[in-house]
Amino acid sequence: MYGESSFTWEYVCGYETREQRKRRLLRRTYTLTAAVCIVSLTVMISVKFVSAGGVRFLTEKLQHTKTEAAAALPLGGEETEAVWEKEAAVPAVLVTEQTTASDEGEGVQPAAVHIPTVYLDPGHGGTDEGCSREGVREKDLNLAIALLVRDQLKEQGYQVIMSRETDTYVSKEMRVAEANRSGADIYISIHQNATEEGASANGMEVWYTEDDGRTDSKRLAQLIRQQTLKSTEATERELRSDADFYVTKNTSMPACLIETGFLSNAGERRKLNLAEYQQQIAGGIVQGIAYYFHPKTMYLTFDDGPSEENTRKVLEILRERNIKATFFLVGENVRQHPEVARQIVAEGHTIGIHCDKHDYDALYASVDSYVADFEKARQTVYEVTGVETNLFRFPGGSVNAYNKKTGKAIIREMTDRGYIYYDWNASLEDAVKNPDPKQLIKNGVETTLGRKKVVLLAHDVVGSTTLCLEELLDSLPEYEMKPLNEEVEPICF
Ligand SMILES: [Zn+2]
Repeated sequence: MYGESSFTWEYVCGYETREQRKRRLLRRTYTLTAAVCIVSLTVMISVKFVSAGGVRFLTEKLQHTKTEAAAALPLGGEETEAVWEKEAAVPAVLVTEQTTASDEGEGVQPAAVHIPTVYLDPGHGGTDEGCSREGVREKDLNLAIALLVRDQLKEQGYQVIMSRETDTYVSKEMRVAEANRSGADIYISIHQNATEEGASANGMEVWYTEDDGRTDSKRLAQLIRQQTLKSTEATERELRSDADFYVTKNTSMPACLIETGFLSNAGERRKLNLAEYQQQIAGGIVQGIAYYFHPKTMYLTFDDGPSEENTRKVLEILRERNIKATFFLVGENVRQHPEVARQIVAEGHTIGIHCDKHDYDALYASVDSYVADFEKARQTVYEVTGVETNLFRFPGGSVNAYNKKTGKAIIREMTDRGYIYYDWNASLEDAVKNPDPKQLIKNGVETTLGRKKVVLLAHDVVGSTTLCLEELLDSLPEYEMKPLNEEVEPICF
């Protein structure tokens, strides 16, 4: 400090030696260069940031970093990652807020943001027209829809690579080779259908290739199907897992192929030619892609178990899909089926307390009767599984027909004891006599009301629930299933 100030003083007073002058000029050059660098960097970052949709975009991105971190790097990924790292550093407050507000409660700041890359493949092109009827050519419709999808995706901040953007011929092998080289996260091929067998055939078909290495192809296909059916109200046709198409078989990333309609059906052909209908199809595909990368959250919860047969079946289904759920256990059932209770814990699910004996009148008679029953169940769960849980669910929910007089006092006492209860905001409504599995699926899907965060009530002791579970999970591809933990904000009636 001292040296520098005396240097300035000498300069001002004209006592500058040659050595000092050299140092001064050098210093000025450094300062100037640094200033230019800072200005250019700021401009670059601002332009990139604004073009990517600004703060809202960044907020969304940061929220989903965890999911995306597992995905492969897009084309030029290193460069993109580096740019985002700098950009992410700009609104530091946002980073902190997002991190602490997350359900995970991990408190770890994301290192970089991965921008999802979509490979869009409009089928056919050039000399290969695909199918055609009455002058309506498949290759043209495929391209028109794909371009609409591309524009919407780009608007939302995705990176898009296309197999063709004009009416040109590209071989299937070329498309797949390019997609695999690009490191795109997903591959979506767009086609039209036609059949000689009956002019009445119509509707959408989505295909994927069953592949252990790319299990996400199924989820992608389910989402594209679900969302395009929703946006177009087209006829529902089967989701096909046995696709023998070159593009769904040989791509290295999750892939699916959508046939958006039948050119052999006069009515559908007319619709497919309308810009408005093409926009609806594109909107559905884009929404499906959005849910693929940014799923909503569902906490599956099972009450009243464990039971020998049904709970084990539920565990098997969850294990196959690598889903973790939450089981609110009944103490007397735990004493009866201790092995099943231990299996629930061993397989990584969350355990909560439901009650010791499922007897509403006795439970809700007083604060003391409730607490005594609860602590007995909690002690049993601890002795059998080694888990000391603070999570619980009231039999009948926190507000029910049996606790009108005692409910508030019980909630106060339980909260004072440090216990956290979870009600639900969607339900299979399976606690009835002889429930019909089809109806249970309908209940489960409809009662979610499309919410972003759902706690779904089900009963693992009910046979029909076990029977419908796989189809139910297939019907909810827009949700990522997570287990409850103390950090998850409770849903209370
Ligand atoms: Zn119950």
